[in-house]
Amino acid sequence: MWNSPKVGILGGGQLGRMLVESANRLNIQANVLDVENSPAKQISFHDGHVTGSFKEPEAVRQLAKSCDVMTAEIEHVDTYALEEVASEVRVEPSWQAIRTIQNKFNQKEHLRKYGIPMADHRELVENTPEELARVGEQLGYPMMLKSKTMAYDGRGNFRVNSKADIPEALEALKDRPLYAEKWAYFKMELAVMVIKTKDEVLSYPTVETVQEDSICKLVYAPARNVPEAINKEAQALARKAVSAFEGKGAFGVEMFLLEDNSLMLCELASRIHNSGHYTIEGCALSQFDSHIRAIMDLPIPAKSLEIRQPSIMLNIIGGATPDSHLKAAEHALSIPNASIHLYSKGAAKPGRKMGHITVTAATMHEAETIIQPLIDVVDDMRA
Ligand code: ATP
Ligand code: MG
Ligand code: MG
Repeated sequence: MWNSPKVGILGGGQLGRMLVESANRLNIQANVLDVENSPAKQISFHDGHVTGSFKEPEAVRQLAKSCDVMTAEIEHVDTYALEEVASEVRVEPSWQAIRTIQNKFNQKEHLRKYGIPMADHRELVENTPEELARVGEQLGYPMMLKSKTMAYDGRGNFRVNSKADIPEALEALKDRPLYAEKWAYFKMELAVMVIKTKDEVLSYPTVETVQEDSICKLVYAPARNVPEAINKEAQALARKAVSAFEGKGAFGVEMFLLEDNSLMLCELASRIHNSGHYTIEGCALSQFDSHIRAIMDLPIPAKSLEIRQPSIMLNIIGGATPDSHLKAAEHALSIPNASIHLYSKGAAKPGRKMGHITVTAATMHEAETIIQPLIDVVDDMRA
């Protein structure tokens, strides 16, 4: 395997950057396709990077020529270009998986065939008030109106509380392909990172995610006060959902834990995922290490995916001022057991993920106590 393998990565944001960190430690060259000086390129000096966009076929073709296996840090890539290059280079996970998953409605229609529990949903054939009112009658209120494509960090979701909200909801989303979901009355949101290898489907333990304004804010690993049976059940559901897709690598699976303790899938991503950042400090192999190993057919001992110490991850999101993320990081410098990850994205915009901080401790209670002052700082900045 140590025959100078090269990985091509579509996308050079923070996920690509952390993938490069893992590839670097195995002497695997990672060629990144993105704009000049993107976060992933900044930490990797060689002449194999490609300048351009993962949405441009020509740039994807150019990247394919320079690597042995190609992967993506984002699902919103040109899968037609990937389909074309798949005859000359390995693409992991498969372009078919990425194509189905990048459209949340198609993803759910596909998963439905595999018996994965999900909120009831309806497609909008036309983005008209009449059509949305018809769907509202079928699903009931509140319901979540969602963009099928290009959705992330809740940008693409609109909560429709009653028929009166329909004009505002359509105003916000009418230029996008839409579907609506029945409201999920969850008591907690859970997530599982799944690693698909050439002959196995492995999973990390179940974590708890807390979203604020639809953006992931905190991840508790393992999930707090969740019985072992649910932890196992969530992992099994996540593995079953990911098994419905072709290809190797990391997949992030988001789930709802309902009042009656049953589980529902929220959505899944064909890539490394924010809910798995805790694995960098919390586990022997991070999700990024595992992704690189999975796509290169290298061994992944299941034991290395266990949580070594309870971990809490806090996202640093662009706030009130251009440097508020730096103030949060500065504060974290003095917090024991806090590992700081800044993404070097330049200017902060409100809602933009600028970095994250992970605290590990002997017990979850201790980790909660340690991180609380930092959560207060971050909350103050957003206020
Ligand atoms: P991501 O950044 O995770 O890709 P996204 O923009 O694709 O986000 P979703 O994951 O579908 O959006 O939804 C974001 C959040 O909105 C969920 O984590 C959950 O808190 C809430 N949400 C989504 N769907 C529903 C639903 N049917 N009922 C209630 N809440 C929901
Ligand atoms: Mg999503
Ligand atoms: Mg989501």
